[in-house]
Amino acid sequence: MSKEELECSFCGRKKAETNLLIAGLDAHICDRCIEQAHGIVVEEALHSSNSELSKELMLKKPKSIKEFLDDYVIGQDHTKKVMSVAVYNHYKRLLQPKSDDDIDIQKSNIIIVGQTGTGKTLVAKTIARMLNVPLAIVDATVLTEAGYVGEDVESILTRLLQAADYNVEKAQNGIVFIDEIDKIARKSDNPSITRDVSGEGVQQALLKLLEGTTVNVPPKGGRKHPDQKFIEVDTENILFIAGGAFDGIERHISKRLNMQAVGFSASKKEDTMERDNLLRYIIPKDLKDFGLIPEIIGRLPVLTYMDPLDKGTLRAILTEPKNAIIKQYKKLFEMDGIDFVITEEALDFIVEQAIEYKLGARGLRSLCEAVLTDAMYELPSTEEKTLNVTLEYAQDKLNKSTIKKLKAVS
Ligand code: ADP
Repeated sequence: MSKEELECSFCGRKKAETNLLIAGLDAHICDRCIEQAHGIVVEEALHSSNSELSKELMLKKPKSIKEFLDDYVIGQDHTKKVMSVAVYNHYKRLLQPKSDDDIDIQKSNIIIVGQTGTGKTLVAKTIARMLNVPLAIVDATVLTEAGYVGEDVESILTRLLQAADYNVEKAQNGIVFIDEIDKIARKSDNPSITRDVSGEGVQQALLKLLEGTTVNVPPKGGRKHPDQKFIEVDTENILFIAGGAFDGIERHISKRLNMQAVGFSASKKEDTMERDNLLRYIIPKDLKDFGLIPEIIGRLPVLTYMDPLDKGTLRAILTEPKNAIIKQYKKLFEMDGIDFVITEEALDFIVEQAIEYKLGARGLRSLCEAVLTDAMYELPSTEEKTLNVTLEYAQDKLNKSTIKKLKAVS
């Protein structure tokens, strides 16, 4: 066959009529047919997504869930283990065949207590990524009781639908991460408030969602409107993960621990150990004392905590996770053919600065940005093929950057 006679074996278009004609063993396919075929594949995948989901999920045992988390989340071993089990049980519950033994497996919704920037959102994101289920991240502070200014709790499900590209089936198997759950705690020391718009009312409204119910969700969000078509979403199989810093909860924990310790003479050493991270001893009662209503606590039965990030952890976060910040910069420079090297001393320096400015893990990114912006701006237009960031280089760039000003503020 001469070149001119080549045609798509699927639609018969001549080569000249196509944008692209790809050759196989005995046949050719044009760009249009590829796109059409791709559409069919996607469509098929969507239809079979549920059975696919179950197959995929059953393969992942808690240990392999934890191993996956290890690739992305540094430290936080306790939480990673607890969550691996909770997620495994959650999906086991979804896949349980209907039986008549009256044993109803309860939902394993999770609540994570830990300072901001310790990886709570990251854990939720990583789990959603591993399971390939949609994830909605919502902030509890914007939620209000129906009828008040703010967002109804249904808006959470609007987000989840959006994350699932409006595939209701997928959304119903998704994950919702509710951040700052501590901010809707009941303000217990102010009993005179008759209507606590942002606190208890929202907790009450959340209850039903957490437990499992069918909700009419406005697909585009916003207020419920009589003319708007609703999408029915069942929250029965949605995994809810709540997170919060619960500033000051240590007081409740230590108070409780001291009460228990009456009659025991705890050594000084144990005392300081406990103070290091009292969150380790958290129990549901502490959440109640903080102001979460018992019903909410009951519907978030898996309680876990995040360790504060120490120097070693911050240092590891820079370079070790699969998509560590430094690896990302390396890749960016590589795309310009530039070999980016950073010395151990420079990395230590960045970590020390993050600690000094109390920026936590989030600060690592802005510090790296401050150190590397000049190079990212200039190098692509030069012949330079290497960038070697030494301690002096990092110090020099940070001294000139606006990040320094943060120090003056704090
Ligand atoms: P939180 O939800 O607890 O406030 P995030 O999960 O949003 O914290 O963490 C902020 C950023 O800090 C993340 O994007 C991540 O890059 C980094 N980070 C925090 N903790 C860890 C950790 N344990 N391992 C790896 N990266 C982390």
